Amino acid sequence: MDIGVDMRERRAMTLEELPIAFENSYAESLEGFYVPTAGDRAPAPSFVYFGDSLAAELGLNAAVVKSDAGARLLSGGYVPKGAKPLAMAYAGHQFGGFSPQLGDGRALLLGELIDIHGGRRDVHLKGSGKTPFSRGGDGKAALGPVLREVIFGEAMHAFGIPTTRALAAVATGETVDRIDDLPGAVLVRVAASHLRVGTFQYFAAQGDTARVRQLADYAISRHFPELVAGSDKYLLFLRAVVDHQAALIAQWMLVGFIHGVMNTDNMTISGETIDYGPCAFMDAYDSATVFSSIDRQGRYAYGNQPAMARWNIARLAETLLPLLGGTEEEAIARATAEIDRFTSVFDEAWLAQMRAKLGISGAEPGDLALANDLLALLQEQSIDFTRFFRALYAEAAGKATVPFLFAAQEGIAAWLGRWSKRRENAEREALPRMAAVNPVYVPRNHLVEEAIAAAVAGDFAPFHTLIDLLRAPFDARDGFDRYAFGAPQSFYPYRTFCGT
Ligand code: AMP
Ligand code: MG
Repeated sequence: MDIGVDMRERRAMTLEELPIAFENSYAESLEGFYVPTAGDRAPAPSFVYFGDSLAAELGLNAAVVKSDAGARLLSGGYVPKGAKPLAMAYAGHQFGGFSPQLGDGRALLLGELIDIHGGRRDVHLKGSGKTPFSRGGDGKAALGPVLREVIFGEAMHAFGIPTTRALAAVATGETVDRIDDLPGAVLVRVAASHLRVGTFQYFAAQGDTARVRQLADYAISRHFPELVAGSDKYLLFLRAVVDHQAALIAQWMLVGFIHGVMNTDNMTISGETIDYGPCAFMDAYDSATVFSSIDRQGRYAYGNQPAMARWNIARLAETLLPLLGGTEEEAIARATAEIDRFTSVFDEAWLAQMRAKLGISGAEPGDLALANDLLALLQEQSIDFTRFFRALYAEAAGKATVPFLFAAQEGIAAWLGRWSKRRENAEREALPRMAAVNPVYVPRNHLVEEAIAAAVAGDFAPFHTLIDLLRAPFDARDGFDRYAFGAPQSFYPYRTFCGT
């Protein structure tokens, strides 16, 4: 039995060898929201990364999928039996300006798998070749940005932050033409879904309310099935997206993550982090930090992320207005109330997580000021965000470590006094919780660049070492001190680029 459309592959690839049971709910429920597309054949596909634990979660037999046939299949040029690969259509606001048609220009949705917990997960390829949405692009991806997505996805997952993750990275054996010739690769990305705010904007911009309703119904049944039968389900859907996104952005902020390109086409409905392009972790705390080379106005600076997420939610709400019932005025009033909730939900999530980072229990009126005064100190003295909180954990455990991070002692000494007093009635669990929410290791910019440069030159050892550490980011490991520090000053200024 052949699994693909290519009869030449009949002997090499059999269904028994690759028992991947793709489902196609998106293709079957959302006609018009995609174009059926197959990827290009990679000349020499081979795995350079394979996520064994994610494969197991997806119910895949890693030993079987990690084969030559698997690499061919997951690089995009073959249509697996039962699959209906497609390029998804979406629009989006990019840096505030609206593009009515973006879509998967170098990606395709291979199909969906039901994971071992019963959840539906998309298997999506990035860099698999041109699609009807490619515009001037070549549809390809370079190895470096693909590995970058692998690293960041694994790290975010290990922090407990909702994220897309890489099932695999496949080197194609092809050269892609960027400023230099670069080795090409395909990222095999897994997500709860690839529905974006921009997916809603696509038909909303055409005034096609029936299609928007169809998409909302699909999104609700896939992500918020508890809302399917209720009245007011579209308003409650908007509320659920607000809840998920506000919680997500709070988590980003508290690990010092900067997404870099929070366009509406890069914001999911599921509440997962998606599209790791020019993203980076902040070393020294500064709310104005921007790394992306194209973000010249600082629109997506670290400190702007909650406001930008809220702005994106407002764009989602606009698409849903015709579904909310009542007069337009009434619909706007109801949607606005939900958008406004973003701020309070975010603030509450942020403070709750900040309390855990500070090792304090319960809620007291002075907590927000305690947190904000600390951030002002970190900013004033350019203190490394990740190292500070880990040092604070050591401090709470009885080792005086925090003062060594500061050149000027006065401010931090006074703050530590307030913090110690606030911790007096802390529960016993507050200390181990501090260790579980304040990572030792984050994907440090210089280490990410070092690992990628080595891999592109053929040495994958630093990449694997980094991934290994980031999989257990809360456990300090002997001999890996270097990985816990920020980049030397000489590394900056640092610029990141969209993964094209
Ligand atoms: P991104 O910056 O990855 O979020 O992509 C923004 C838009 O540009 C999406 O529609 C992508 O599909 C498209 N795009 C990015 N890179 C390429 C490429 N190399 N070829 C074709 N389309 C691309
Ligand atoms: Mg994108």
